[in-house]
Amino acid sequence: MNIKPLIAATPFTQLRFRHYQIHHLLLPYALYTLSVIPIYLFFIVSDFHHIDVDLWLVITVKILLSLGCVLILLLLRNRAPQYLELGEFVLVFSVFASLTYVAQLAMIFGDEHYQSAGLLALVYVGSLSRMAFNKAFMLLTLMLLTHLALISSVKLSQDFANAVDNLTLFIAVYFVAVIGCLRRWSESQKSFLKFTKIRNQQLALRKNQQFLSKQNQTDPLTGLKNRLFLSANLERISSSANTLTVLMIDIDNFKQINDTYGHPFGDEVILRVADTIGQYCHGRNKIAVRYGGEEFLCLVIDETANNTAELAETICHAITQITWPIKQLIVTVSIGVSTNTLHKSGDFKLIEQADEALYQAKNDGKNRVVVYPRQQL
Ligand code: GH3
Ligand code: MG
Ligand code: MG
Repeated sequence: MNIKPLIAATPFTQLRFRHYQIHHLLLPYALYTLSVIPIYLFFIVSDFHHIDVDLWLVITVKILLSLGCVLILLLLRNRAPQYLELGEFVLVFSVFASLTYVAQLAMIFGDEHYQSAGLLALVYVGSLSRMAFNKAFMLLTLMLLTHLALISSVKLSQDFANAVDNLTLFIAVYFVAVIGCLRRWSESQKSFLKFTKIRNQQLALRKNQQFLSKQNQTDPLTGLKNRLFLSANLERISSSANTLTVLMIDIDNFKQINDTYGHPFGDEVILRVADTIGQYCHGRNKIAVRYGGEEFLCLVIDETANNTAELAETICHAITQITWPIKQLIVTVSIGVSTNTLHKSGDFKLIEQADEALYQAKNDGKNRVVVYPRQQL
């Protein structure tokens, strides 16, 4: 029997179900399998009454066999959980077969000893075991056939009525155990479906959170990163870079643009200036950020001072080249540049230094780049 009835039987789902079965159904309960051992050893009490010859040999063999089973089970549990079911199958069947074999020997000597002991193995499979249904069904049927071959066949020739009695009881327990396994299997599938549903919901939630945090860190007007992004990521960026440069870019006389042409046009200016900055400040090692109203930052990671100064000049020039619907308008920006070799200085003051350089650029007449610290002439 497979898991088709409840679970879409795609190979991937089957694989996930198998993983769930091993790690959530079998592994946490693997030690329950060992409960078979003390029950098996308990029969030593019975051996004292029935076995006269080689009693200690029988007991020693039983104890050694039990120890071997414990060791194998622990080994499978810790090293190869994918074979746990198989190990349980072999262990339970070995115990059942050895009990049945002893029962047959006893019968040949005219003793009733051990005849119903095998039923305990059936009860175990029907209640405690967490095997997949197909394996449990196979195991139970194998035990029924073994009982038929070793016990019923001998018993029928000795005492027919007693044999029918014994077989009826065995078959009844067999059916109860099969139904128990079937119910447990269907519950396992349902718990897997619930588990999958919760996991998918968690994944969707995490995806949603990631989406929202990305949205939160994006400026809605320009589509550039915003200040929230900066506060959330600056430490990470600075710790992974050897050299970090900040270009602080501020639109010149923007208030006047707003006052003259209106706020909506002011927005249009911010948008197009941001686009131009974004064209030069993107890729593997550059990040453009809208820092405030008409102020932008361009973070440049691991570039030489010459390259970043050149980049600042390029942006400054590119903005003067933007054509506007108002023919006579020329929008300019001032840029302050500051570079820091972060590993040398623990004190992270790049943005303040770039701001200081920007202030100097404004004082010097705007539409220019000033690099911090200002070269003394
Ligand atoms: P400076 O050359 O010294 O930088 O002067 P400025 O006029 O550019 O700078 P100031 O700080 O005096 O004015 C900035 C103006 O930008 C004030 C504010 O109303 C406007 N502003 C801020 N955010 C926005 C926005 O999103 N859209 C528009 N249209 N205006 C904005
Ligand atoms: Mg300004
Ligand atoms: Mg400003």
